[in-house]
Formats: sequence, C-alpha cells, structure tokens
Amino acid sequence: MAVTIPFDNSYARLPERFYVKMTPEPVAAPSLIRVNHALAKELGIDPVQLESAEGIAILAGNAVAAGSEPLAQAYAGHQFGGFSPQLGDGRAMLLGEVVGRQGRRDIQLKGSGPTPFSRRGDGRAALGPVLREYVVSEAMHALGLPTTRALAAVLTGENVRRERLLPGAIFTRVASSHLRVGTFQYFAAQGDVEALRILADYAIARHYPAAAEAANPYRAFLESVCLAQADLIARWLHIGFIHGVMNTDNCAISGETIDFGPCAFMDEYDSRRVLSSIDHQGRYAYGNQPNIGFWNLTRLAEALIPLLGADEETGLAEAKAALEVYVPRFQSAYDGGLCAKIGLSDARADHISCAHGLLTLMAQHGADFTLTFRALGDYAALRALFGDDAGALDNWLPRWRSLLAADGRDPTEVRDSMRRVNPAFIPRNHQMERVISAAVESQDFGPFERFLAVVTRPYDDQPGMEDYARPAVTDERVLQTFCGT
Ligand code: AMP
Ligand code: MG
Ligand code: MG
Repeated sequence: MAVTIPFDNSYARLPERFYVKMTPEPVAAPSLIRVNHALAKELGIDPVQLESAEGIAILAGNAVAAGSEPLAQAYAGHQFGGFSPQLGDGRAMLLGEVVGRQGRRDIQLKGSGPTPFSRRGDGRAALGPVLREYVVSEAMHALGLPTTRALAAVLTGENVRRERLLPGAIFTRVASSHLRVGTFQYFAAQGDVEALRILADYAIARHYPAAAEAANPYRAFLESVCLAQADLIARWLHIGFIHGVMNTDNCAISGETIDFGPCAFMDEYDSRRVLSSIDHQGRYAYGNQPNIGFWNLTRLAEALIPLLGADEETGLAEAKAALEVYVPRFQSAYDGGLCAKIGLSDARADHISCAHGLLTLMAQHGADFTLTFRALGDYAALRALFGDDAGALDNWLPRWRSLLAADGRDPTEVRDSMRRVNPAFIPRNHQMERVISAAVESQDFGPFERFLAVVTRPYDDQPGMEDYARPAVTDERVLQTFCGT
C-alpha cells in the first residue's frame, strides 16, 4: 500500500542558506508506538497507511515519502541568556509541509539522526522525552492552547547513550511552522539583510497576512508576534504550565507552544516554581515567563531593526514602539482569563483582586493549583484541599460569593463556564514518570495509552479516573525535570 502524503513544500523553495537538504539516517528495526488518527486525517493523510510497514519506515526515516524534501533548518538562539549564532536542527528534519483543514503545517521528524547542526549531539532522541512530548503537546491542544502536535511516535530498535543506555525513538511533530525568534537572529547575526527580508516576508505570508497591508509591514508583523506570545504566555499561566526552556530558539513566531523539554505543570501553587534541573537561576520560573517572553521578543525586535526603518535610528524607534503592545495585551489576557477561572465575567479591579486573593491563599497553604480552581463550585471538595487550614477560606469565600451575586449571571451558566476553563486532568509529572518507566523498563505502552486518553479530555469528569487527577503523594513527588534529549 503506497503511503500518500499530500506534500506542498514552501520552505524548501527558500534560498539554500536557510537549511541543509539531507535525508534521515536509517535505523535498525523501526516499530510503531502510535499514530494520531484524528490529526492524520486533518492533514489529509490516511492513518492506516501510516501504520503500514512503509508508513513506519517513513516515520523512522528509513524511507522518504514521495514529495518529501527533507531538510535541517538553520537557526540561532539565546540559551539561558547567552547567544549561539548557530544552533539549527541538530536532531530534527523537516519532511515537508501539507495544507490541511487548519492551513499549512510542517511535518518534522525529531530524533532522525545527525545533521551538520548536531555539534557533539548524536541526533537521536530517547523514548522518555518522545513520550513526554507526545502526551504534553496533545494535552495542551485539548486544553485549548496553541501548540505543536503529535502525529506519531516510533521505536528505532537502537539504543541511545544518555546517563545510561535507553531505547531510541523518533517523534513526528506537526507545527504551523518551525519559524523561531532564533531563525531571525541567525540572519541578523550574519548581517544578511536580504535573507532577513525574505524570511520576514515568508513569515508574514504564512502567519500574519494582514501585516502585509500595513503602512510598515515589518512593524505590524512584530506587533502580531508580540500579541500572539502575550496571549500564549497568559494561557500557560492559567493552566499552571512551566515551559522550562524559553530560549529564543524555542519561541515560535506562530505563537504556538514548542519544544517540550523539561516542561511541567505546577502542582502546589508557587509563582517562583522551577522544575528544570538545568535552570539554576530560576530564569524560567512559572511567574517569570511573562518577563522572559518580553525579553525574547526584544531579541526579535533587535533582529528586525534593519527592516523596520530606513536607518538604524528609525528602525530602533519602530522596534520600541512595536514592543509596547506586549505588556498591556499580556495583562488583559492574563487578568481576563484569571477572572474567568473564578467565574467572574470581566476583569474589573475588584474581580482581579479577588482572584489574586485566592492565589495568595493557595501559596500560603500549599494548595494544588489545578484542583483548587476545579473545586470552586464544590464547597466540601475545596475545604478538603486546604485540610486543617480550611478556615483560611472563611474570609475569601463570602467576598467571592458577593462578587458573583453582583455579577448577576445565572449560577448554572457560571459553573459550566468555570468547568470549561478549569481542567480536572493535566499531565502530572509523577504520572508522566510512571508512563515513561513502564515503557522504558517493561516495553509496556498501556500506561501511555491510558494516560493520553485521560489528559486529552481535560475538562470532562471521568469517573474511575480520579487517580489521574490527584497530586503526587510524598514519595511520588517529582522535584526536578530533565532535558533528557
Ligand atoms: P533543545 O534544547 O531541544 O531546544 O535543543 C537545542 C539545540 O541542541 C538545538 O539546536 C538542537 O537541535 C540541539 N540538540 C538537542 N539534542 C540533540 C541531540 N541529541 N543531537 C544533536 N543535537 C541536539
Ligand atoms: Mg543549504
Ligand atoms: Mg529547541
């Protein structure tokens, strides 16, 4: 059965200095972990074909599908604040693009072997991080956040050497594009203004076509990226997500969440929370993400200066003016979403302060972020979360209820609206670890399948699945997450 993927490639038409064309390195014994049927169909691909021997060979990089033009993309980036002029796809390859129901999408293999950008890395991915990216990206999508998606995962039949030998795997990622802040920095650092302009025009056409009509299209483009990132980061905060590696090469121009490395969902609310083992300074702590978003966008603005004005001075002035849209947009998106989480219809000062009052209580009493919001409609459940400290709610609850009453909305409607923004199920770290360990130690993918099914229905009550909703007990607690590439 021939596998048909309706490739329609545009990146491969860009100048040669944007990428290196090359094919993935074949692996010993590919086998299928999973194909995402719904996403395949959305892309115009028959999922059953992807599950055939030829499909698996394509997903493992052992065969190149008709119409695919594999390439490794060049990009630069600031990693933990330090600039690397050349990063690039060191373990990934873009197979090509398809135009599906959601528009143009990239199909990329991650873990497909070395490229000229690999430096000292092996170009491969271990099974654990592949399963984590699969679960977390699909959970993010189900939560309603812009994110890259998981099309498939395969085992390579080879081991990769990390701290120890681990099973190797390849992840098939779908993204509205893989353009990053770091892609712009790559050409800016080389002073290649021609490439910068081609890249910006490409990004505008692909993601922000309305910007082309503006008086200064590059400024309109920069503003659009700022708005998309402000909205995205506000939504991360609403669901307790800590990205973990907000380097500029992991910051997508499209406004999608990308590169799920040592990412994590917060359990107990603490705005200083850091989980990544490599984030020693807390640069990428939960509550610092809005600031880092702005820092990253400032790097994008700097890269675009040659396009923004006829000379350096006007370019700089345009860059500064464009960046000014970020803070107010973040604040209104964050405040609006936070008020919605407590069922209040608009972000008035007293509503915002009431929501902050709840966050403060959570922080003081170590309450679980996700469960507290979910339990707001259920007095007994809410009190139980605060345990011996339940008395702390006695001041907050009456204040909240009086604001709800003054808001004047139908209580059932309020309750339903809260349940649509306050998930019951998130991919909790300790569950993720359990899933990875069953797959790595016992080749058992049952826990992965069950976990994925639960976290892709985050807003539904799922009777019998309560164990997935609870936070870790003491000996299950995951204190750190690792890149584990
Ligand atoms: P990441 O931390 O995954 O965003 O990756 C940062 C950079 O390191 C990118 O250029 C990656 O392509 C590269 N990289 C990460 N892991 C590997 C690996 N195992 N082999 C080669 N390059 C890698
Ligand atoms: Mg080239
Ligand atoms: Mg990355």
